[in-house]
Amino acid sequence: MIKLTTWGAAQQVTGSMHLLEIDGYKILVDCGLDYEHGNNDMLKNEDFPFSPTDIDLVVLTHAHIDHSGNIPTLVRKGFAGQVLCTAPTARLGELLMLDSVNIFMRKERRKVKRKNRTVTFHNPPLYLQKHVMETADRFVTIAFKKPFHIKDGIQVTFIPVGHLLGAAAVVFEIEDEGKTKRIAFTGDIGRKGYPILQDPEPIPQVDYLISESTYGGRWHSDQNLEEVLLKAIEETCIKTRGKLIIPAFSIGRTQALVYSLNRIFSKGLLPMVKIFVDSPLANYATEVYRRFNSLLNQEAQEFYAREGDQFSFDNLRYVEDLQESQEISNYYEPCIIISSAGMLEGGRIQDHLYNNIQNYYCTILFIGYCAPGTLGNRLLRGDPIVKLRHRDLSVFAKIQRTDALSGHGDHNDLVNNVLQQDNNKLKNVFLVHGEPISMEALKNDLEEKGYRVEIPMKGQTFVLG
Ligand SMILES: [Zn+2]
Repeated sequence: MIKLTTWGAAQQVTGSMHLLEIDGYKILVDCGLDYEHGNNDMLKNEDFPFSPTDIDLVVLTHAHIDHSGNIPTLVRKGFAGQVLCTAPTARLGELLMLDSVNIFMRKERRKVKRKNRTVTFHNPPLYLQKHVMETADRFVTIAFKKPFHIKDGIQVTFIPVGHLLGAAAVVFEIEDEGKTKRIAFTGDIGRKGYPILQDPEPIPQVDYLISESTYGGRWHSDQNLEEVLLKAIEETCIKTRGKLIIPAFSIGRTQALVYSLNRIFSKGLLPMVKIFVDSPLANYATEVYRRFNSLLNQEAQEFYAREGDQFSFDNLRYVEDLQESQEISNYYEPCIIISSAGMLEGGRIQDHLYNNIQNYYCTILFIGYCAPGTLGNRLLRGDPIVKLRHRDLSVFAKIQRTDALSGHGDHNDLVNNVLQQDNNKLKNVFLVHGEPISMEALKNDLEEKGYRVEIPMKGQTFVLG
């Protein structure tokens, strides 16, 4: 008997965790951090609704922390099995988990001023570096599109889905009661034509599809990234000789951005402007992108053959140490600064904002989503004054945004992904990884097209007959 229970990303976006039980053999598909209660309630993640020692195997769709970031906790609490994923996912996953440890450590002791006294909050870290190392030792990397034999009667195939280097949909083929049953988990689905990444590939016909739904009921604009960048650089750096600051996640977005800037400057479309990438994590991640050059899209590979390294060019500099980071914050010439964190919560970007947010000649260009409650969100909604390092600062810098670098497919992409399945053969679509309003929009559209759709509750078990 095959049973599916969604223990995370059920009617919410983070904390992906799905338990697939095949005659008692327990596979966990993804084991991500749940941020739904905010960063300060991380310890809730260690309350697994099952015994970690009972899990036989983890299959990981991709490295993003809301899919991978709780595996070290699972290991810490006794999980003794292996973790199947693609090779880039193993490398990027390890980097992101180590970054999580750094974030836990920074938040471990937090002092907050309350009236006339200082209160210290103690947030013990969810896991330590040694647990990440132990997790990395469990990674078993497998190639895309090559069926991998897990055990008698169970095999899995990883299908590229764009989104992030190494990201995959996972398709299980399971012998059950004399029949072969196919069950696919989409992980996160990317977009066609995304810089450096290959387009998502079709998922073969399956019996059950567990699909993400982040952008259900929402559509991306048709903005062209290079046109957006050209205009922003021209207006900020060339005409007014100011600074363009781009907050970007260190893994994925930064590499796509650097490659797009390389294309712009290699075509000679603009005079040279100094570009600084200021994130140690981005520097490590870029090495992984170089290492897996053969998995990048055809255009990026042709660029490599013609121009050399996609991620380095004359006017680009990767900033190493903190002192240099502080120097570029006060750099007087026009320049572009790419730094993390993307939502402006922590990271070196905070120094750049502190020094430049009151500068009329500065533009802050947002390229990603900023969750409510973050500094990025406050700037995007137009707050005239924001608090940084306990000081109220007036926002004189220009605030701009583009969705051209969103890594998720929109409503149409999600629907088209399901439409590749014959609705006479597909028994059910389960929607996960989305806000309830997005799931409902997607469910309605798919049901109109003749598909059977379920929105699982957390902990609800389905027998896949
Ligand atoms: Zn993702």
